Amino acid sequence: MTNPTAPTPPKVAIIGGGPAGLGTAIALGQAGLAYTLYEAKPAISEIGNGISVQRNTWRMLEALGASRNLTRDKLFRAPSGHDLEHRNGHTGALVATNDADPLAPPHQQHARVHRAHLQQALLRQVDASRIRTAHKLVSVSTLPSGRLRLAFANGFEDEVDLLVGADGIRSVRRPSPPPLTPPQVVRAHAFPDHKIAYAGATSYRTLVPATSAALVNGLPDASTFWHGTDRKWVYSCPLGPHLEITTSIKEADDGQRGSWGRRSSVAAFRAAFAEMCQPVQELLRLATFVEQYDYFAGPRLESVVQPGIALVGDASHPLSGAFGAGAGFALEDAWTLGQSVRWASAKGLPLDTALALFDAVRSPHYADLYAVLDGYRAADADVAAARLPPAGEIKAVVERNWSDRTRWMLVYEVDAVFAREIARHEAEVRKGAGEGGTVSQRNGNGHGLTGAAVVESERQLNGDDLDSRTRPGHDLPDALHAVRVA
Ligand SMILES: Cc1cc2nc3c(=O)[nH]c(=O)nc-3n(C[C@H](O)[C@H](O)[C@H](O)COP(=O)(O)OP(=O)(O)OC[C@H]3O[C@@H](n4cnc5c(N)ncnc54)[C@H](O)[C@@H]3O)c2cc1C
Repeated sequence: MTNPTAPTPPKVAIIGGGPAGLGTAIALGQAGLAYTLYEAKPAISEIGNGISVQRNTWRMLEALGASRNLTRDKLFRAPSGHDLEHRNGHTGALVATNDADPLAPPHQQHARVHRAHLQQALLRQVDASRIRTAHKLVSVSTLPSGRLRLAFANGFEDEVDLLVGADGIRSVRRPSPPPLTPPQVVRAHAFPDHKIAYAGATSYRTLVPATSAALVNGLPDASTFWHGTDRKWVYSCPLGPHLEITTSIKEADDGQRGSWGRRSSVAAFRAAFAEMCQPVQELLRLATFVEQYDYFAGPRLESVVQPGIALVGDASHPLSGAFGAGAGFALEDAWTLGQSVRWASAKGLPLDTALALFDAVRSPHYADLYAVLDGYRAADADVAAARLPPAGEIKAVVERNWSDRTRWMLVYEVDAVFAREIARHEAEVRKGAGEGGTVSQRNGNGHGLTGAAVVESERQLNGDDLDSRTRPGHDLPDALHAVRVA
């Protein structure tokens, strides 16, 4: 017999099938919530390139049960044990290395993996019956009840209690011709004044056959940045049967900046890096196609939630790929949202309390990440003002922007921060109860949260751990602090 007073489980839509959307699907599934994941593309697919998996990303992949799908044959780790080599792109000389994390167990060490493998690893943990591809969200409206009505390009409509915006920033459209619907539909509804813009730099990416790359003289078997001046770089890394080439170069806004992965001119690509050393030139000559990824960024959102809405992944923090760790941040978002819902459910608290908890954990972290970006900009300005010769500029940029001082974000333990936030909240509730306060059991829509176990992360954590692995500027061991200068 059904219980007419039992709260109705909230209806959830996730928009986007990238790392953020798939991670959220797994996390909400683990929390016992039913959801539908809508993806605009006809299939859950990824661009043909590499992605770095750092320790924080591994920890989330483990928590989401997806790490087991990333077997060792899919990973590249340099035989030298260096996470990264930094070379002077003009001379090929080694400038510095970022070494493996001495505190991380072997399975959580940095690795480079094909994006499609990462996506498949996540996808395998998602209930396929809940995915709707070829469903492009075009509008969101808030109903008087507080529910959200979703309209899709194919005419389909849905009405939900919780809308998760995981629609990224990769499909930016320029106003020529004016778009009928804004990109990043969920963010546009939740934060209509928030705008992103071309960040003044572009990444060109290609893959070349590994067998051909093996014949290039002076090419290290490593994840290598070849640094030029004025923030120009070329990155090369073995990627299974291929070698990946990713670049970054400042370019003015020509009014044509837009979506990820558009084909671009191979000749122009080679010409843009003509001053680079012989191994790089030889590599670029192997390219038969080039894809363009314009970096887009925007101001920090002070909050990543609105009533009934949570933003996750790039949709919530358009950092323009600055740290090469956006997929890890996206999975931290996903895990935190799932745990927040799970915790609120176990306590009989409303959905908006779960969203507030999610926001309290994630927004301060983004503030710290944006502060690092500000630091990069200041360092770039200092280096430019110093008018150093090319070798001096390259060394200064590597030491200031690639130092392990920012490694805290890659070893960040979101579960520790989450547990701390729960403890803070519960202390406040106890204090409120002591003063005669009450805790609401239902949200504004009349939807309670149902059916989840007690949060595993409500475990006792060592206070030192919190300090040493979660805060920027903390006292890491020396081995983690300094980029090793060659
Ligand atoms: C050059 C470059 C290099 C990078 N290197 C790294 C790296 O080494 N490591 C790392 O961790 N990160 C890296 N990043 C960042 C990383 O790619 C992103 O942070 C990550 O993809 C964000 O995942 P997401 O799920 O938020 O967004 P996305 O991966 O962009 O996924 C968004 C999904 O939403 C779908 N979508 C969009 N609009 C709609 C709609 N209206 N309706 C339905 N579906 C929609 C899209 O089709 C897409 O599938 C890099 C980024 C760049 C540009």
